[in-house]
Amino acid sequence: MKHDRILASEIAAYLRCPRLVYFRSRSGADEQKTIDTKYLSHLILKELALTHHHTAASDGTGDAGDAGSTVERLRTELKRIADELLVLYRAELSDVDHQMVLDAADSIDIDVIGSRISDYVRIIGKNALLMKITPCAVEYAMYSDALGIAGAPDKLVRIDGSVLPYLTRTGEKPEHGAWKPDRLQITAYAMLVEETFGQAVKYGIVEYARFFELREVNIKSRDRRRVLELRNRIRMIKDGRMPDRPRDAPCEFCAFEEGCTAQRSLASKFF
Ligand code: SF4
Repeated sequence: MKHDRILASEIAAYLRCPRLVYFRSRSGADEQKTIDTKYLSHLILKELALTHHHTAASDGTGDAGDAGSTVERLRTELKRIADELLVLYRAELSDVDHQMVLDAADSIDIDVIGSRISDYVRIIGKNALLMKITPCAVEYAMYSDALGIAGAPDKLVRIDGSVLPYLTRTGEKPEHGAWKPDRLQITAYAMLVEETFGQAVKYGIVEYARFFELREVNIKSRDRRRVLELRNRIRMIKDGRMPDRPRDAPCEFCAFEEGCTAQRSLASKFF
């Protein structure tokens, strides 16, 4: 079967390990995720990030910023999300108990997020922050036959009349800018926004949610070119071409390690 349209999220997966794209395209919904505290805190952070515009709206008074009230509001949202997570992800988390979710919620440093929200309110002003983070759409699905790419960024935001893509990441943050997979994924989303809304996109936003660190990523021609190159490689993989196993692949917690090792042994028998 031909897979003409790739997902923007497959670009980030390809850059972690091209074989992940291969195995995921074959396993479909059967991929076994490891459901541990780290994964649960990832889901909680994603949900929490969707409420930050309400939290920022209630931050202190004027542009003074008040980390105390912000942290309190975050705690309320965190508790609500921890109580609702098993309902939101009922099928995926069917074997998880509520205490495990509470432990994952406890691992999130609310003080860090709260004080950063207050910093932004103080530095750029509440209205500017709200404009940056208030979604005009959540997980809005876009696709383009012309680009051969589809995807749904975590949010779309509207800044000065332009729709911009917004990506929420729950891992570590780089010192400056965005990690390369995040930069290329947001570039792919920017290209989709341009096709969908008929406007140019100059930049997108990546939020490193554990720290509430907002990074604006300029959409460069070089990265657009790279997205199209990666699209072509991903198409070939999804059409059945098994890529090489990269030397620095993150195999330790990979759900496909068993199948991947078997494939390697089979290949090494012949070559
Ligand atoms: S086991 Fe390693 S090489 Fe194989 S798909 Fe997973 S991360 Fe990639």
